[in-house]
Amino acid sequence: MISGPPTLTINEADEMLNRYNITVLLIVNEQHEPVGLISRLVAGKSIHLGLGNSPVSDYMTTDFATLPPTATLADIQELIIENRQRFIPVVKAGKVLGVITRTDLLHLLVNDPAHIPRRLLAGTDQPSTARNRNLTGLMAEVLNREIIVLLQTLGEVAQETGCHAYTVGGFVRDLLLHIKNLDLDVVIEGDGLAYAKKLGKKLGGRVRTHEKFGTAVVSLPDGLKIDIATARLEYYEYPAAMPTVELSSIKLDLYRRDFTINAMAIHLNPDTFGTLVDFFNCQNDLKDRQIRILHNLSFVEDPTRIFRAIRFEQRMGFKIGKHTEKLIKNAVKMELFDRFFGKRFFNELTSILSEENPIPAIHRMADLGLLRFLHPTLRIDPKLSTIMEETRQALAWHRLLYLDQPCRQWLVYLLALMTGLTTREVSAFCERFEVPLRHRQFLVREKLAVIRIAGIMKRAMPESPSGLYHLLKELSPEGLLHLMGITKKKSGKKAISLHVTEWSQLKPQTDGNDLEKMGYLPGPLYGTILRCLLNARLDGLVHDRATETVFIKEHFSLPDHDTAHGHP
Ligand code: ATP
Repeated sequence: MISGPPTLTINEADEMLNRYNITVLLIVNEQHEPVGLISRLVAGKSIHLGLGNSPVSDYMTTDFATLPPTATLADIQELIIENRQRFIPVVKAGKVLGVITRTDLLHLLVNDPAHIPRRLLAGTDQPSTARNRNLTGLMAEVLNREIIVLLQTLGEVAQETGCHAYTVGGFVRDLLLHIKNLDLDVVIEGDGLAYAKKLGKKLGGRVRTHEKFGTAVVSLPDGLKIDIATARLEYYEYPAAMPTVELSSIKLDLYRRDFTINAMAIHLNPDTFGTLVDFFNCQNDLKDRQIRILHNLSFVEDPTRIFRAIRFEQRMGFKIGKHTEKLIKNAVKMELFDRFFGKRFFNELTSILSEENPIPAIHRMADLGLLRFLHPTLRIDPKLSTIMEETRQALAWHRLLYLDQPCRQWLVYLLALMTGLTTREVSAFCERFEVPLRHRQFLVREKLAVIRIAGIMKRAMPESPSGLYHLLKELSPEGLLHLMGITKKKSGKKAISLHVTEWSQLKPQTDGNDLEKMGYLPGPLYGTILRCLLNARLDGLVHDRATETVFIKEHFSLPDHDTAHGHP
């Protein structure tokens, strides 16, 4: 039996896999206990990704089943066919005695066809019955009628187009958790673009297609958007004696997804409407509240998934699985992110900062050593912790006001996280993560303004409401909330809250027409008068049209013949 120690490098493991022409290498510890499996595919991909010198222990699969020497053919079939484990160590008293591979099983089945399961011969690769329960009852419980009818229509159009439609990802995950999620991601086995066009026509929606990726978005008249993707068909050859088994493309699509909890689908075609498609035992992870990747190179292929793992973990109160956490730590250790800056990363960061309370996720990022990828000096010290918490309170307060002006929470949290950085460092961050220009300019402008205003509030805070108003008025809602988050002075917080709730809405009741009627000549004087009136209103010197008129007459003389001169 061929095996190697966990200290073997991936290059060395790959050499052994090639030398002995095997597809999986068993990794055993000093006590000869099986501790992992590394496949030729994983080794090859790892080398391609520049990880050849890493120990196999970093990328080997540790989550596998073993069998005792007394196991029956049925046990072997169950593991290899139902659980899709290709390689089974046979273990007695903890020590490996030998291995059984999928090829061994296939040889046996070819030599004795009576054992061939019907499913395999049928040439399909469907999940086992236990995993494809019908979810129509659950749909009726969680979703409203319109959505169910829409899902049925999606299936009918698939039938008419001669393809298969599945809804996948977050929608399925949330449905199984009894949460209504209206983000519909649909995967089509067949021509996704033709399907999207037909669907658009049937529902009177607008269709935007991306031919290159085989994707489309159908925007319905009620504002709902449906994302449509095409699953590609790929073939897998069994050894010559066996029929060619076509791996269903939905399976490959699901296998490429980020986590098991997001790797389930629901079949929508009329005959099988509502059938859950769960190839990888994903329901178990949902039940165990675990975030797990589907394969060991997942984070190497796409490190943004690390941020997604943290976001889902914190949002749903799940736990990142032990093996998955180990792979995250490996990725961090290898500084994988240096190669993966850019837009996609920034989008994941904004998603984290848009969660209802992103602070636990930020702490988790800090614990996993991820903050330094945002900026090398970024640390969650007590000062930054306080600022984050004050920011959360400011945002919660603002939300309760139900104001019309929108406030982008993620920008407020990003400004808070970057409190300790210079504007030059913020610019460098924006450059690295390809932050769109409008956000980049906004961040730098607001940061500069907040630093200046916070300084004035600390040294010489204006006493009058009008003085404070003119200090704060240049800030956006996000800038104001950021200032609220970093201001320690109670009087400063109070001023900001008055500004948001009252001062920023105040306007004199008198306008240009009134001034003309009163006999003032139109010109720059009007601006001066209205500014003075606003200040008087802020400071409580006037409170209605009558008192405003008295104030104007008192402070601004009417034109004498044809010359107008005013004095504030
Ligand atoms: P949310 O509720 O936050 O919208 P979601 O699961 O719908 O969560 P999306 O970002 O909308 O998340 O992604 C939709 C689906 O696409 C996911 O459920 C997942 O299956 C897949 N996906 C998204 N990003 C990745 C990624 N980086 N790698 C692999 N699969 C991904």
